[in-house]
Amino acid sequence: MDRGTIIYLDNNATTMVAPEVLGAMQPFFSKRYGNPSSMHRFGGSVRHDIDEARAKVAHLLGATPEEIVFTSCGTESDNAAVVGTLRADPDKRHLITTKVEHPAIRSLCQFLAKERYEVTEVPVNRQGELDVDFLADSIRPDTAIVSVMWANNETGVIFPVEEVAEIAHANGVVFHTDAVQAVGKIPINLAETPVDLLSLSGHKMHAPKGIGVLYVRRGTKLTPFMIGGHQEHNRRGGTENTASIVGLGKAAELAAERIVDETTRVRKLRDALEARILAGAPDCFVNGRRDTRLPNTTNISFEYVEGEAILLKLDQLGICASSGSACTSGSLEPSHVMRAMGVPFTAAHGSIRFSLTVYNTEEDIDFVAEHVPEIITELRAISPYGRK
Ligand code: PLP
Repeated sequence: MDRGTIIYLDNNATTMVAPEVLGAMQPFFSKRYGNPSSMHRFGGSVRHDIDEARAKVAHLLGATPEEIVFTSCGTESDNAAVVGTLRADPDKRHLITTKVEHPAIRSLCQFLAKERYEVTEVPVNRQGELDVDFLADSIRPDTAIVSVMWANNETGVIFPVEEVAEIAHANGVVFHTDAVQAVGKIPINLAETPVDLLSLSGHKMHAPKGIGVLYVRRGTKLTPFMIGGHQEHNRRGGTENTASIVGLGKAAELAAERIVDETTRVRKLRDALEARILAGAPDCFVNGRRDTRLPNTTNISFEYVEGEAILLKLDQLGICASSGSACTSGSLEPSHVMRAMGVPFTAAHGSIRFSLTVYNTEEDIDFVAEHVPEIITELRAISPYGRK
C-alpha cells in the first residue's frame, strides 16, 4: 500500500518525507559521500552543507547555530539531555517529569529510579493539563532537571513550557522540554522561551527517520552522552549522518514556511473532522483541553467500542490512525496518558488519535468524517460492552 491508496492521519507517529527533502538529500547518497571531517575539499565541502542545515534548524527554533547538536532521533536527544545533565552535576539526584511523557523520557526516568535517582512524576487533570503548582512544590535542593514535554503526542495538549521553565530557573534547576510533537506545528521562539535543552525529531516533521536535534542553550552544563570523536564540537561523537542532516535542514526551512498553513488550514481541517465525528456518532468525546492543543491532533473516545476494532475497520478503508491503548504489549490496557487523565476505562479503551499534516486535504477529511460514524454504529451493534 502506498500513499496513493491511503488516507494518512497518523502524522504524530511519523510523517512522509517531503519531496523537497528527499531531493536535497539525494546527492549525499551518491556524488557527495565525503566525510565532513576530512582535510580534502571533497569531504570538507560537505561541512558547509551541514552548517547550512544547522542554521536552518536554528532559525526555525529562534536559536543560534552553535546551540544545535545533531543526534540520531528524538529518543537519543531526550536521553542525552537527561543523562547529560545528571552527569554534569553528580550530587543532584532528583528529577521531575510528568505522568504523560513519551517513553523516551518516562521509561528512562523509571530506569534511573532504579539507579539511585529519585523521580517525581507530576500529574495532569481530566483535561490533560499539567498541575503546575504540584511541580513547583516538588522542587528540592537536589533537583537536577525538570523535563516537561511541549505538547503531548496522544492528545496534542500543549503544556505551559515558558511558565515551567521560569519556575525551574527561579530554583536554579535545568529545564528540558521534549518538543518532538511541537516543532513545526506551533511557533517556537527560544529567544523568548527560556528552555535550556530541547529535543526534536526529524521524522515527525517530514524529514527521514534516524535524525534528531538536541538544542543546548549556550552556557548549559551538559556531559556528552555519545562519547567518541570530536564531531558536533565534542558534544556528540559519531560521523555525521550527512544526508539526513541536510534533509532535516530542508524540512526545517519548509516548516518555517508552512507554519501559517499548519496553524490555520490544518487546524480547520482537524476541527471539521472532529465536529463531524462528534455530530455523527453518539457517546463520544474529545480527550484533552480543546483550546490549548496542537492544531493537527484530535483524540476521540468512543464509548462501548474497542479502539483496535475501529482501527481495523479504518484500515480496511485505507485510513491510517492510531489508538490510545497499548495493543503492542498485547495487554489492551489503556495508555498511561489516558490513565493519568482519569479517562474512564471503557472510553479510554475506545480512544482514537487522528493526527493531520499540511499534506491532508478536504477530500481526506470528508471521506473519514463520512465513514467513522458508520463504523461506530456497526461495531456497537456487536459490542461486548452492552450498548447497542
Ligand atoms: N518524544 C515524543 C513526544 C514522541 O512523540 C516521540 C515519537 O513518537 C519521541 C519522543 C521519540 O522520537 P524518535 O522516534 O525520533 O526517537
